[in-house]
Amino acid sequence: VQGLQGARVAVLGLGRSGLSAARALAAGGAVPLCWDDNPAARSKAEAEGLCVQDLHHPSAFEDIARLIVSPGIPHLYPTPNAIIATAQMAGVPVDNDIGLFFQSFATGAWASFDTAPRVVAITGSNGKSTTSALIHHILTEAGRDSQLAGNIGRGVLDIDPPEDGGVVVLELSSYQTDLARSLTPDVAVFTNLSPDHLDRHAGMGGYFAAKRRLFAEGGPDRAVIGVDEPEGRFLAGQLAEGPTDDRVIRISVAAKLAGPGWNIFARKGFLSEYRKGKQVASIDLRSVKGLPGAHNHQNACAAFAACRSLGLAPRVIEAAFHSFGGLPHRSQLIAEAGGVAYVNDSKATNVDSAVKALEAFQNIRWICGGLQKEGGLGPLNAVSGAVRKAYVIGREAAAFAVQLDAEAQVCGTMAQAVEAAIVDAEQGDTVLLAPAAASFDQYDSFEKRGDDFVAEVRARLGLDPVETV
Ligand code: ADP
Repeated sequence: VQGLQGARVAVLGLGRSGLSAARALAAGGAVPLCWDDNPAARSKAEAEGLCVQDLHHPSAFEDIARLIVSPGIPHLYPTPNAIIATAQMAGVPVDNDIGLFFQSFATGAWASFDTAPRVVAITGSNGKSTTSALIHHILTEAGRDSQLAGNIGRGVLDIDPPEDGGVVVLELSSYQTDLARSLTPDVAVFTNLSPDHLDRHAGMGGYFAAKRRLFAEGGPDRAVIGVDEPEGRFLAGQLAEGPTDDRVIRISVAAKLAGPGWNIFARKGFLSEYRKGKQVASIDLRSVKGLPGAHNHQNACAAFAACRSLGLAPRVIEAAFHSFGGLPHRSQLIAEAGGVAYVNDSKATNVDSAVKALEAFQNIRWICGGLQKEGGLGPLNAVSGAVRKAYVIGREAAAFAVQLDAEAQVCGTMAQAVEAAIVDAEQGDTVLLAPAAASFDQYDSFEKRGDDFVAEVRARLGLDPVETV
């Protein structure tokens, strides 16, 4: 990391990104002093030969050049972090691994490439991981050297610099954009905005402000912006020099965008690209199995726009859409048998994301239930027209089932639900796990819940246990 050789740098939080920052700082000749309130995390750092130092100590920030903070640590809300507050009182700049990455990118070894690698950064409330993985997949299929990092993939300071002409695809949460001192991607993507994590950002304004930092500092060369919410429209309007400016690519799944600038939208299953009011590309998304539903069509628009910015041809992107398998536990097609599709959306841990899943399919055999979150199940009933029957799991399955308008069978366990759904399923049906609830009453994580669904389905269908379609 450039500019910090010989300097003492405090590292707070020793998860994946904190450890990767500490390692990179040490490798670059800085002296990282590491802390985590969790003793197990400290032991892990010590076992790696990193220096652990109590940052709660009043004199901890004497002679410290910078404090690197992990995204998992709330810095200001709901209560200010004591260590960060001490550093700030001592005048120590606060940063994170993403800021270090962009700083070294601008000044370090990476800048010496003939064709410097391009950086695409993706933020937004929903669809970040899917969009990032899709961009990475398209670039890889197109023969470009792509590295996936940030919130998904590897810690950004752990990646190898890509070859000349390569691309770093960086998924960024609002916590990461909020703290990074330097944020200078070539292409920045803002997918959408919905209330999420508001507690840590003091409301919607703070949350939006954290995300739009990606577009500050003179801004990226190209901004891909979802304009289906007022915040996105506002941001696009601020960044564009005028209506014909093609520095901003507007994307939508709600409106036909055919204005004078550069626009990409999906309607009725077709993605269209318009430039200067003329259509230049059209893709039928209805047959793209890995990206079902309007929400995934939004992700497809965002990825298409980012890859077009990097010079890829529409037909190259279209071919890669068809070979994209989706991310595990996110509307993932895990088996097909007897004309029935089996889809794992265990990541639908709340009502909002389960609504998206129900809107994406027809003739649904719906496995749902688990640890119910606040707010009621009403929005699910508004979109349950495509549900043929619900199979309810979870410790409180009966209480969950009575809130549903659709016909519901109380199953309790995943094994019983899968069994019942397979018995009932007819050609053309989709057996969909989209729980609309947390998993912790029966599982350690939504991933374990999804794995259990996949195992039950594949065992009952007599398929190889792990392989997906
Ligand atoms: P993130 O990384 O932003 O959490 P993911 O790509 O992991 O997003 O998707 C998480 C869940 O959010 C998915 O299971 C799906 O239900 C929902 N989702 C995905 N993309 C979108 C989108 N563009 N708009 C709304 N919801 C989405």
